[in-house]
Amino acid sequence: MSDAENQGQDEPIDPASELREIAARVRTQLEMRGRSGMLGVSRRASRRVAVVAAASVPEIAHADADADADGGNVADESVSGAPGGARGLTLIREEIGDCRRCRLAGGRQNIVFGVGNPQAHLVFVGEAPGADEDQQGEPFVGKAGQLLTKMIEAMGYGREDVYICNVIKCRPPGNRNPEPDEVAACEPFLKKQLAALRPRVIVTLGKFAAQCLLRDDTPISRLRGNFRTYEGITLMPTFHPAYLLRDPSKKKEAWTDLKAVNAALKRLGFEPPRAPAP
Ligand code: URA
Repeated sequence: MSDAENQGQDEPIDPASELREIAARVRTQLEMRGRSGMLGVSRRASRRVAVVAAASVPEIAHADADADADGGNVADESVSGAPGGARGLTLIREEIGDCRRCRLAGGRQNIVFGVGNPQAHLVFVGEAPGADEDQQGEPFVGKAGQLLTKMIEAMGYGREDVYICNVIKCRPPGNRNPEPDEVAACEPFLKKQLAALRPRVIVTLGKFAAQCLLRDDTPISRLRGNFRTYEGITLMPTFHPAYLLRDPSKKKEAWTDLKAVNAALKRLGFEPPRAPAP
């Protein structure tokens, strides 16, 4: 299949991905019923059932065996055993502190950590804060951020329902690309954030975030629209909203990607709070 053809596909097609989704859906249903007392099963037990269901596929068994270590709500405790959810994020922010690990510290006004729902099943990852974000201490609040907000709303979510962050937490001067040593200093915190959040789907915005998380230097024009896996989490690379502002003709492809994300989440038992745009 050519790249152009492949870009239109809206769901993963390999059997391992399908089985992983089935296992995740079973786990979600059992967790929900377990929480409501309908099944009389503990959250650990419900996850165990899903792990057993997935055990015939080594890739899935591995990912879910890791997830099993969290003992319950995926965001209560991260895969590493560190706290997840809001408490985990607070600890990571505290660890960052008044960071001086790279030269970006000298020019920043604010560390832009991330914003949104600590229990989000959907996380957006961008590159680095720009001037507006640096000033306000919140990711994606400038022009590109306003477009991202519209994209999120078109999916049926609000900014408060999802989580939004960047690979780099401080603004590179003049919005230049981050240098490798800056990425090396900052990326571990993104990894910890994602481990604490443990979302069902990550959407990377633009080339930098996708290439960084996937360790893949394929151009974004070929990465986008194709589901990948990051640490056992489904990942969809799409275009950066700043690029979409420069070339609005690409919005259609980005929307195709986001609709595919909604479809994948639906298969996992997650629906947006509001009806998505058609
Ligand atoms: N671009 C990004 O990648 N992140 C932001 O927070 C703002 C603009």
